[in-house]
Amino acid sequence: MPWPTEQDTEVFEIIEREETRQNTGLQLIASENFTSPAVMAATGSVLTNKYSEGYPGKRYYGGNEYVDESEDLARRRVCELFGATHANVQPHSGANANLGVYLALLQPGDTVLGLSLDHGGHLTHGSPVNVSGRFYNFISYGLTASDERMDLEQLRDLAVRQKPKMIVAGATAYSRTIDPQPIREICDEVDALFMFDAAHIAGLIAGGAHPNPVGVADIVTFTTHKTLRGPRGGCILSTEEHAAAIDKAIFPGLQGGPLEHVIAAKAVAFKEASHPSFSDYAAQVVSNARALADSLGGHGFRLVSGGTDNHLMLIDLRPFNSELTGKEAQVALDRAGITLNKNTIPDDPRSPFVTSGLRIGTPSVTTQGMKEQEMARIGDLIARVLADPTDDAILGEARRDVAELCGGFEPYA
Ligand SMILES: *Cc1c(COP(=O)(O)O)cnc(C)c1O
Repeated sequence: MPWPTEQDTEVFEIIEREETRQNTGLQLIASENFTSPAVMAATGSVLTNKYSEGYPGKRYYGGNEYVDESEDLARRRVCELFGATHANVQPHSGANANLGVYLALLQPGDTVLGLSLDHGGHLTHGSPVNVSGRFYNFISYGLTASDERMDLEQLRDLAVRQKPKMIVAGATAYSRTIDPQPIREICDEVDALFMFDAAHIAGLIAGGAHPNPVGVADIVTFTTHKTLRGPRGGCILSTEEHAAAIDKAIFPGLQGGPLEHVIAAKAVAFKEASHPSFSDYAAQVVSNARALADSLGGHGFRLVSGGTDNHLMLIDLRPFNSELTGKEAQVALDRAGITLNKNTIPDDPRSPFVTSGLRIGTPSVTTQGMKEQEMARIGDLIARVLADPTDDAILGEARRDVAELCGGFEPYA
């Protein structure tokens, strides 16, 4: 049977338009990145055709000799990259990695502490609309009111009072270093398991720009597509003690057949992240975030916690313009070719659909090769657009300047 000869222009023209969007606009969404041609080639490979329920050496179907090699390679590489003893590379996403850990190590109704969603935590850390919040008794800890950093005193008090089975650390909108050591001490004091969700910062950890929670936390989960710059997916690292329970929870507990094309692409990304140049990348991501934060601070925006140690910053728009919402800012910037997301700031008086803030990240622009000098230009562009967010002439002019800036840094030229 021959393949259909007719080109599916309807789909491929959409993909082409998306490629142009990525090449000509500024991608400042903190959880996004650009993957290498090798990562994309593995993702688009014949491995997508294979069913391989189970794990290397223990599959339900035949024909898995090469898939076994690839998944083993991915596991070995990620263990070496982070210094872990066991890895499960099958989670389809970061959310599934977290759910797999909960399914492996908790009973429904168990008490867990997680960072509050409106202080930067993730949906899978106990949001009432997420399965984590529906099946487990998540209790939130937060940031201090004074310096907007993780409130370790509050976390310890809560832990002593609530006796949680597990403490979850990690965030989706938090711009400061998370030191795993003091959290380990709290877990030891109350005999809780320690899960560190490194979804956002896995690439910074791999590149040596942030402290490694492996060997400190009992379990580390992360996504492979954010700062780590691999295909979309998740991963779980654990001690030998929890390995069997976690593997059983991911399959057959939570998922069916693994995405072996994505697992091969994860292996490619793990190797890329072990290259010395990836450390330069991670350091540049952080320097760029600092430079962009400085620029925006100079334009009158308030930085939540006063700045950033990682790849992202949270901007409080109110000192710049108390009427301007995150929602309006996101729309205006999008029209100028600057893609980012509205975000609540700690104790935001506006709803999560409106917000008083923006979350801005530098992983993508850094992959493109931009440096501090370009960050200053981006800060100027954001300020110019947000000074007149409804002025079509200004938006059009900014859109041209964005295209000109991106012209020298096309990710997929
Ligand atoms: C992004 C993220 C996740 C979820 O990853 P998905 O692949 O989108 O499911 C989980 N935890 C944190 C902290 C995240 O930032």
